[in-house]
Amino acid sequence: MREDTKKISVLGLGAMGTAIARAWRGAGYGVTVWNRTVGRAEALVGEGAEVAGTAGEAVAASGLVVVCLLDDASVGEVLADADLMGRDLVNVTTSTPGQARRRADWAGARGARYLDGGIMAVPPMIGVPDSGAYVFYSGSPELFADHRDALAVPAGTRYVGEDAGSAALHDAALLSAMTGMFAGVSHAFALMRGSEAAPREFAALLVEWLTAMAPSANGVATHLETGDYTLGVTSNLVMMVEGNGTLLRTAEEQGISPELLSPFMALMERRLAGGHGDEGTTGVIDLLLR
Ligand code: NDP
Repeated sequence: MREDTKKISVLGLGAMGTAIARAWRGAGYGVTVWNRTVGRAEALVGEGAEVAGTAGEAVAASGLVVVCLLDDASVGEVLADADLMGRDLVNVTTSTPGQARRRADWAGARGARYLDGGIMAVPPMIGVPDSGAYVFYSGSPELFADHRDALAVPAGTRYVGEDAGSAALHDAALLSAMTGMFAGVSHAFALMRGSEAAPREFAALLVEWLTAMAPSANGVATHLETGDYTLGVTSNLVMMVEGNGTLLRTAEEQGISPELLSPFMALMERRLAGGHGDEGTTGVIDLLLR
């Protein structure tokens, strides 16, 4: 262990950085904070946090340095003049996998161990037991092991490998799936607009249905692991592409644009045209690979 693990510096006091710093302060950690707009540190100072005059001073104050800034560019700007030698840098700023890997190299060249984080939570979930909040971490396994207890304070931890880009990749994959779900939900509400069903009643049906359908991801995993995309398929592409026609005609009848659905449906049709009618939708993944 490098330094006093009960001391943490947090750089970046937006909604998320403030929530994280507050969770550590509440758990009795000595917390030093820094933010570009100084006034945002006031509440935390009232809760016993130290405020550093510069980012460099914040970095110097603790062995464990956590940055939670807007984006990767702001991380580079804020830490440009800081002496990172011997520090443990944990960057929970949302980044791409490539940015995270470059940031890890950058930190390593400055003598710091590096862990990248992807936060799977919104600020009100931070520091709340059983809220379901967690953070994907990847990068230095030694850093993760040395600060495991501290890192588990604001949210659960999931270490996903030594490749610094892995946390960002997991984060982006889950958020991408969520984006697709939001698209489907938006289309569904658009269809139902003007119907007799109240939005709240329909929302309950949607939640129930999407929850029932979510485990289908396990079937996709089986296909990818075995290479057999027909295993256990009960709804095949022939049937689903036919069904798509009904969904599109319903959208037309209701006066709703199909633009959120049609890209995925076009891929299903291409896979079917390739002679894969006995598969489910797993083959679409192959069509996406560039
Ligand atoms: P905010 O917009 O609330 O805060 C942004 C922070 O970045 C502020 O501290 C801001 O400083 C600072 N900042 C921005 N640009 C610069 C710069 N050029 N130089 C110095 N400081 C800068 O964002 P959040 O706190 O919500 O988000 C922080 C990170 O957490 C992001 O990467 C976000 O993706 C991630 N995250 C956020 C979630 C959320 O729901 N909020 C959920 C999951 C991840 P200043 O106060 O001076 O403007």
